[in-house]
Amino acid sequence: MFDVIVVGAGPAGATTAKMLADSGLKVLIVERLKLPRYKSCSGVLIKKSMDLVKQYFGEAVPTSVMCTPYDNHGMIFTDDKGKEYAFEQEGLNVWRSSFDNWLTENAVKAGAELRDMTSAVSCEQAEDHIELQLHSDRTYTEQARYVIDCEGVTSALKRNVLNISPKFITTYQTFNVGKIELDPHYFYAYLQPELSEYDAWFNVKDEMLVLGVAVKDTSKIEYFYNNFIHYMIEKHGLVIENTTKQERWLMPHIQPGCNIDYGTGRLFFAGEVAGFLNPMGEGISAGMESGHSIAVSVKERFNDPNSVLNDYMKRTEMLKVYMERQWHFVASLADTFKEMKLPM
Ligand SMILES: Cc1cc2nc3c(=O)[nH]c(=O)nc-3n(C[C@H](O)[C@H](O)[C@H](O)COP(=O)(O)OP(=O)(O)OC[C@H]3O[C@@H](n4cnc5c(N)ncnc54)[C@H](O)[C@@H]3O)c2cc1C
Repeated sequence: MFDVIVVGAGPAGATTAKMLADSGLKVLIVERLKLPRYKSCSGVLIKKSMDLVKQYFGEAVPTSVMCTPYDNHGMIFTDDKGKEYAFEQEGLNVWRSSFDNWLTENAVKAGAELRDMTSAVSCEQAEDHIELQLHSDRTYTEQARYVIDCEGVTSALKRNVLNISPKFITTYQTFNVGKIELDPHYFYAYLQPELSEYDAWFNVKDEMLVLGVAVKDTSKIEYFYNNFIHYMIEKHGLVIENTTKQERWLMPHIQPGCNIDYGTGRLFFAGEVAGFLNPMGEGISAGMESGHSIAVSVKERFNDPNSVLNDYMKRTEMLKVYMERQWHFVASLADTFKEMKLPM
């Protein structure tokens, strides 16, 4: 019997596992992919993410997980009318495969057992424990007092248990060799409705120009991506010599009210699967903070699952308020997000 099984080795899962293992609990992390695993991401660690790493992991983000330019200087938003807003902030540029792997290694150093290439398939709650069906080269069951589901956007367990069909935004981005007249130290987000159904973005990773669009309707990816490329050519002198990679991914489509699924019984959700995601895909800090919160709640209320739930909700109250305010702010920049405005 494990004290806690954590599903998923992203920022939420690695933080949860590290915190729980630090407090002496018997922790297993299962990750469906082989580590280090790939995750489509702009890889911008905002100042808050950097601070949380120091606070929870006791050291600064190592240069071994970064890509060039190492320093991110903030975000430049272009609103739906084409007006630019610069938000200067200290940040870092990382490869998610390396960053998440480093976080997970720290959880393992703290004492957590790791099984990668192992998927959580379903779970069944008993009175004093929970049974989790796992699949690797065989299918088997493990028992734990709690399961913390940090599956990210895919949410297989959440769908099985809560019977919820989440809504998604599809992201599409390409990695390109070429040039552009923009400072590579910034992350650029474009909110004009003719460029995407959500946002379009540009950033630089190890000299590669990364250009992406997010859509609600996947059949429109090509249309918006082509519009965006033409816009970047005209506005910022983009020249693409060669496209080396293209990828699609999903993110949760956050709805008005920023509903969070905290969990039920002995199963709790943290990170993206719970619904913690800030605008423009800033989800690493939300994953880490919610993972930390559920770990503290489990540790402190171990014998009482009901009070774990209440405590977890209380601990993440400010995170939810922050998330709502951030979405409200983006709604003030672009009509696309108008339903996210908070009532005055
Ligand atoms: C294109 C794009 C760009 C982004 N850019 C940024 C950015 O610059 N900065 C930022 O802060 N955020 C960014 N985000 C958001 C950020 O990537 C996520 O919010 C963050 O990764 C969520 O962390 P998590 O730990 O909840 O989930 P994840 O990081 O997705 O980790 C979940 C893990 O669970 C594993 N898993 C899934 N199902 C199972 C299962 N059944 N069994 C076992 N393991 C399972 C997955 O393989 C994965 O490793 C971006 C997202 C996208 C799509």
